[in-house]
Amino acid sequence: MLNIGCHLSSSKGYLHMGKEAKSIGADTFQFFTRNPRGGAAKAIDEEDVKSFLDFAKENNFGKILAHAPYTLNACSDKEQTREFALNTMKDDLLRMEYTPGQLYNFHPGSHVGQGVEIGIDLIIKQLNAVLWEDMTTTVLLETMAGKGSEIGRTFEELKQIIDGVHLKDKMGVCLDTCHIYDGGYDIVNDLDGVLNEFDKIIGLDRLKAIHMNDSKNPFASHKDRHEKIGEGSIGLQAMVNIINHPKLQGIPVLLETPNELDGYAKEIETLRAAYKD
Ligand code: FE
Ligand code: FE
Ligand code: ZN
Repeated sequence: MLNIGCHLSSSKGYLHMGKEAKSIGADTFQFFTRNPRGGAAKAIDEEDVKSFLDFAKENNFGKILAHAPYTLNACSDKEQTREFALNTMKDDLLRMEYTPGQLYNFHPGSHVGQGVEIGIDLIIKQLNAVLWEDMTTTVLLETMAGKGSEIGRTFEELKQIIDGVHLKDKMGVCLDTCHIYDGGYDIVNDLDGVLNEFDKIIGLDRLKAIHMNDSKNPFASHKDRHEKIGEGSIGLQAMVNIINHPKLQGIPVLLETPNELDGYAKEIETLRAAYKD
């Protein structure tokens, strides 16, 4: 079974996203919990959430993925920015409980010159302050391209963060194909090698979602510019290898390619056609 979807606008609520996803052949989706640049989130409409949950069940949707705002930086050197990150994630995770058992993804952060070790400590501190025992959401660290002082370019850094978190069973990883290829993991020529390394360092059981994006830039360029599937340096075949890899079955695949709905529909159709059930 292949659960595949794309990033959708959350401005019209959950049921709207569910119906929009279905209309383009998707059975999962990603959305921002609030404006990606930050700011207050809209109040949860419980009726809307309830209708969506029914809709998702009827249509056999896979897990959906909420994405934290880009401005969230748990390891900033500014206390105010760290506080914003803490309060935003706290609030997001409370809101996530209206849709129990789903996924919440965030960019680990940029240490802005403080160094990786201090950055990782700050991220761990934040996670330990916001996770609680009875929560049902799994919080995912996204693999990053290593642009600027981004933390999370290497599997080792992600593992180090997870190791510091007390409630480890709440933690997982979202693998972004553009980011790891940009980050220097060769999923085109050595997908098995990359997955083995992930398994050895983090453990494949932590891999809970895949962001499927081609890259505008060559291997190991640390740039993070997404391209349409099959039109970048990664290419369609590598994507097909990923969705069909025996070790990656059951993991939801989300497109974040530069597309409108019709473009996403085509990519989903192409990938579904290449999926060997
Ligand atoms: Fe992201
Ligand atoms: Fe991503
Ligand atoms: Zn990206």
